[in-house]
Amino acid sequence: MLSVILPSYNEEKMIALAAETIGGILKSENIDYELVFVDDGSRDATWSIICEVSQRDNHVVGVHFSRNFGKEAAMFAGLEKADGDCVVIIDCDLQHPPEKIVEMYRLWEQGFEVVEGIKEDRGRESFLHRGFANLFYGLMSKATGMNMADASDFKLLDRKVVDALNKMPEKNVFFRALSFWVGFKKAEVSYCVRERVAGESKWSTKSLIKYALRNITSFSCAPMQLATVLGVLMLCGSFAAFVVFIVSLFSFVNSVAGLSCLVLLSGGCILSCLGIIGTYIAKIYEEVKGRPKYIISNIVGK
Ligand code: UDP
Ligand code: MG
Repeated sequence: MLSVILPSYNEEKMIALAAETIGGILKSENIDYELVFVDDGSRDATWSIICEVSQRDNHVVGVHFSRNFGKEAAMFAGLEKADGDCVVIIDCDLQHPPEKIVEMYRLWEQGFEVVEGIKEDRGRESFLHRGFANLFYGLMSKATGMNMADASDFKLLDRKVVDALNKMPEKNVFFRALSFWVGFKKAEVSYCVRERVAGESKWSTKSLIKYALRNITSFSCAPMQLATVLGVLMLCGSFAAFVVFIVSLFSFVNSVAGLSCLVLLSGGCILSCLGIIGTYIAKIYEEVKGRPKYIISNIVGK
């Protein structure tokens, strides 16, 4: 059986349509399936619609969070609840073309264990959004050692991969990078991002920046090494400043401005490095607390 996981946050207009569209495609291809809608603490009628659809259609399973925990948490909850021999994660706004699920499934039948959905065309995005996305994926690609520029959350995972991901104890997770990190036999399917049929995107530039920072710090220690690099640069700078200082003693050139620049520069570097280290300490603190990634308040259809 194939499990399709659909993280859903304020998607009342999309639930029934997504269930119908994806269900229709999979039925016509004779693929046994279940649809796992994870309602990420929506404020609209998403949950009651999931309950309704699940009563009508026994392929539909619904999981309801006690509040909004974010898409990453919703995807992981879906992975835990899914019973399939393989699992596909897809946005419930149908921006990921559902026909591609069949293509992914056929590759899985041929023995591939991870089928990545690769964005051929990123759809409509603002100039600023694209700039940040490029910077973020550049850093993430460096951190994971894999090209993540066109990666997305749309992918198929074999049961072995799902079990490996479910065993990971960490709370700060970045699904897209983790599914690269686990390895396994990979294939790719390219797709074009579609326009949203209904509802609106949940991402603002601010939330995207927060998301990027959270994921970079939970997957890479490179920003911490920046402190070492800055320290070495400052040390070199201080030698140069010392030479200038000695020269200025003999030439009576006023070096106050130069010195205050140096003090400000070193202060700035020290404070920003402390900030970076503080971010990682906060991460450790969160992990040590051991709180769950999400809290489920209701389940239907199981
Ligand atoms: N989503 C979620 N929790 C959130 C935000 C989004 O489960 O806190 C879901 C949303 O319902 C959708 C998917 O994640 O199915 C992608 O979100 P969205 O369409 O807003 O992102 P975009 O496509 O604009 O990047
Ligand atoms: Mg979307």
